[in-house]
Amino acid sequence: MLLTNLIDHTKEHYGEYPFLYYKDKTYTNLEVEKMAKKFSILLRNHDIADGERVVVSIPNCPEVIFAYQGILRSRSIVIPVMHLLHPREIHFILNDSKAKAIITSSQVLPNMIEASKDLAYKPIFIVVDQLENKDVFDGYEIIELYKEIETIENSHELLTDAQESDTAVILYTSGTTGRPKGVMLTHKNLYSSAMSAYELLNDREDAGRGTTLGVLPLAHVYGFTMMNSCFLLGSSVVIFPKFDVDRVFACIEKYNVRAFSAVPAMLYAMVSSPNVDQYDLSSLESVGSGSAALPVAVIHAFKQKFNAEIREGYGLSEAAPTVAAHREGMPIKPGSVGVAIPGVQVRVVDENVTDVPKGEIGELIVKGDNITTGYYGLEEATKKAIKDGWLFTGDLATMDNDEYLYIVDRKNDLIIRGGFNIYPRDLEEVIMSHEAVAEVAVIGIPDERIGEEIVACVVKNPGSIVSEVEIIAYSQQKLAKYKTPKRVVFLQQLPRNGVGKILKRKLREMYETTDF
Ligand code: ATP
Repeated sequence: MLLTNLIDHTKEHYGEYPFLYYKDKTYTNLEVEKMAKKFSILLRNHDIADGERVVVSIPNCPEVIFAYQGILRSRSIVIPVMHLLHPREIHFILNDSKAKAIITSSQVLPNMIEASKDLAYKPIFIVVDQLENKDVFDGYEIIELYKEIETIENSHELLTDAQESDTAVILYTSGTTGRPKGVMLTHKNLYSSAMSAYELLNDREDAGRGTTLGVLPLAHVYGFTMMNSCFLLGSSVVIFPKFDVDRVFACIEKYNVRAFSAVPAMLYAMVSSPNVDQYDLSSLESVGSGSAALPVAVIHAFKQKFNAEIREGYGLSEAAPTVAAHREGMPIKPGSVGVAIPGVQVRVVDENVTDVPKGEIGELIVKGDNITTGYYGLEEATKKAIKDGWLFTGDLATMDNDEYLYIVDRKNDLIIRGGFNIYPRDLEEVIMSHEAVAEVAVIGIPDERIGEEIVACVVKNPGSIVSEVEIIAYSQQKLAKYKTPKRVVFLQQLPRNGVGKILKRKLREMYETTDF
């Protein structure tokens, strides 16, 4: 199946229904299809088709979905880019992908223009909302979507035969571990991933029907797949330009939302909000969490506050993204990311690619229809990451006797202190359980004597008072001394990427030694 068949699926199974809510607008699935078709004609009219790459960089809004579906219908390739990236980072993506067009909003346009300077070619800009000051951008080819789309008749759409094995999307990893790489995902990869989400819920008769919240950025693979599974499930979705706790609560109440997908930073914000009691949130049954480790303390606090479960899952861009999740009806094990999703095989292996015994730590490797065909233009990196069809995730994990997976840490974040392996997550869980601590990230800093030293970067709860010495003493009460921090630094906030993932690389750059 192709991603362009998703809307056909909704029509066949659910007829016409309100698919998308955004601010005061509602679009049915048929209206989304109409806009997607027109978008694809517009692109073809400008020779953007058949394998051309197209960047889409806009905060969540309906036009993102029209654009994605329109690009795919013209057989071009979508490159979703987080609009919050620095022009330097966007320049890298443009230069690497040679994207012919950039679809953006009037607000983000100046950033995109800045990013396109010094490129060896001139991209076309398509602005999806009203552009007041077009003259300022003299010298750039700028198309105003709504002016041009008005002139387009539906019937002109020319759908060519795409193949399941065609690349549909190139997703640039956020580079938390180095240079961003363009992960190529085919129609098959993304469709199978959306299908798994469908199957995960499918043992419920009313699976998916009803309204969910699109709080994840559609520019991230997690948000992209969430949207695709809404088409499959026949759900309606309220999309948010940015996460806002009170709006989330208001929408849960208004639409009787039962479930949605989020990331740990959002769940933490919900748990910490003082405004919970102002809303009726009794419809909420569960929230999916993925993209980064979720402290067990947050899972318990969430259950207590909302009487709803957090179902943690695990994935990565290279797996489009979902690898494991807590299925409906399966016992939830806090701290675990659940079991491999349908159609995906997982193994936990040692350096010789031999399976380690249950309960022992090894690298998680993954195989299935969802696995990327490789990194765009990077053959060596592709060969390193995918061997015999198995994707080497770079994540350390364990599997228990019930085949539940536990993500221990990223291989790159592992701290080797005096020859001992220290898993930052163990210490993070301990420090997180201190009442004065809101957030924590544990990193390794080079140390001449012992190889690496442990530094804990802590954000305190508002109004809390706690010292470095106290955090160290608290850690030593709960863990072997060699696993506890040498230094604790207090920060106002932790550096995060567009989906709220902590950028440990940035923290490591901030503290090159422990003499600070
Ligand atoms: P890069 O690959 O450049 O570092 P990135 O971190 O943004 O960029 P993603 O594909 O978005 O790449 O993130 C995937 C990674 O997120 C996984 O490899 C894993 O380390 C982490 N991750 C995802 N879900 C979880 C989870 N539930 N628990 C712990 N870590 C998780």
